[in-house]
Amino acid sequence: MPGKMLQFVNQAKAMPKKRAAQDRIGDFDEIYADFDFASAEEQAGRCSQCGVPFCQVNCPLHNNIPDWLMLTAENRMQEAYELSSATNTFPEICGRICPQDRLCEGNCVIEKGFESVTIGAVEKHITETAFEEGWVKPIHVTTENGLSAGIIGAGPAGLAAADVLRRKGYKVTVYDRYDRVGGLLIYGIPGFKLEKDVVLRRAELLTNGGIDFVLNCEIGRDVSFPELREKHDAVLIATGVYKARDFQAPGIGLNGVVPALDFLTASNRKSLGDDVAEFDSGVLNAGNKNVVVIGGGDTAMDCVRTAIRQNAKSVTCLYRRDKVNMPGSQREVQNAEEEGVNFQWLSAPHALLGDDSVQAVRARRIHLGQPDETGRQVPQIIENSDFDVAADLVIKALGFDPEDLPVMFDHPELGVSKWGTIQIDWKTMMTSSPGVFAAGDIVRGASLVVWGIRDGRDAAEQMDKYIQAEQRGESLAAG
Ligand code: FAD
Ligand code: SF4
Ligand code: SF4
Repeated sequence: MPGKMLQFVNQAKAMPKKRAAQDRIGDFDEIYADFDFASAEEQAGRCSQCGVPFCQVNCPLHNNIPDWLMLTAENRMQEAYELSSATNTFPEICGRICPQDRLCEGNCVIEKGFESVTIGAVEKHITETAFEEGWVKPIHVTTENGLSAGIIGAGPAGLAAADVLRRKGYKVTVYDRYDRVGGLLIYGIPGFKLEKDVVLRRAELLTNGGIDFVLNCEIGRDVSFPELREKHDAVLIATGVYKARDFQAPGIGLNGVVPALDFLTASNRKSLGDDVAEFDSGVLNAGNKNVVVIGGGDTAMDCVRTAIRQNAKSVTCLYRRDKVNMPGSQREVQNAEEEGVNFQWLSAPHALLGDDSVQAVRARRIHLGQPDETGRQVPQIIENSDFDVAADLVIKALGFDPEDLPVMFDHPELGVSKWGTIQIDWKTMMTSSPGVFAAGDIVRGASLVVWGIRDGRDAAEQMDKYIQAEQRGESLAAG
């Protein structure tokens, strides 16, 4: 066992420096600094090099965590980078925004008693070092194979697939209805979790590696799906989920009640320097307003923290369960609390009050009853518990469902689940339509970036197998 490891008994867990709340709410920059070399080595050296590394088992990419921690502890950074980037297409992104407390770090065996190794921060440090040292290079294809793959969606799933296929020598074209590459990485997730330069840097690398991007192009509107299918040897659908869930209540149609993604996209575009009329006119701007965000997931947390940074007068989050049972990451809730968000746990809206524009949300208190078949306690309304919260802007952050793709693509043979997600054969990642594959949120429902990367990588391997078999005249579509 290398002498630098197993230091968890003597060395306490430490995260990279976090900016003070008062400082960070003045901008959209990331709140965590990068480790310096000495801290990264110390923290990586806390790993006990488990025989069965549960961190790795619970990382969706099965990253070789113990080995790259050991290489970091020994200051062998280029080898650490090569190892970490072998399984993860975007390690600098996962290191920043994976909910590590639910994945790798939450399953680290020294967590009980000693607190986990800071795996995500070390992964970010390894990759940022690699960028600084010039070790991260665009894809270099030695032999073009003359075959072509079309990918719909430039989010993490589509980009991860594009990377794998391009490395194999395919001509890869990625189509996206947005004007920039990145999907939710660029227009959903705010800069204080993931600075936009980090996404743009990756997009540039992929472009320099020979991947073609056709932006401002919506498949099903600007180009038909059959036309696209015709152009490529195989196609990947990685379109994410964008239909915002809504709720019914009196006053829901009042001005000032907006969907979360509209609000976040406007804010992200503004940070990127775009003209955003709805932001400038105040419709999608929390400045000087009382803001109420409805929901308790990561999107809700991003909305409350964005509103704080836009100088809202007050920011309240209404969530129908309690803090322990909320779906969002506990780390993000803590960050939001530090930044001045007021949480009204166990509360649900039942009316929006106002004439033309919303002025208040009327909510009711909730009691958590017996667990249902999923094991979660069922929220029950407490009668006569109404209370009002002043609101000039109400943001609905209740989650997302898939759009109706078979209709949008005019491709009824595309099989979907009862939730509208695309059905695939998980072994081949192929949909019910031969040569058409799918990956990411459009298959799983709203999920995580790291799962998008995993699916994109898997789908690319299967697309390659399919196309190669077709070339040999051995169709895999039937079986
Ligand atoms: P997307 O990222 O949604 O990309 C799909 C792309 O397809 C988009 O660019 C879209 O424009 C394009 N597209 C759609 N339809 C068409 C069409 N017809 N033609 C052309 N292009 C089309 N996950 C984490 O791991 N950590 C987080 O901290 C986190 N925070 C989040 C915060 C918010 C506000 C949201 C909404 C999600 C967050 N997630 C987070 C989830 C994560 O962003 C998604 O799971 C992930 O981006 C899914 O990747 P994807 O490639 O499947 O889809
Ligand atoms: Fe942890 Fe995510 Fe990195 Fe895997 S990809 S090691 S889950 S931070
Ligand atoms: Fe190291 Fe924790 Fe992974 Fe064990 S579970 S190998 S201690 S990081």
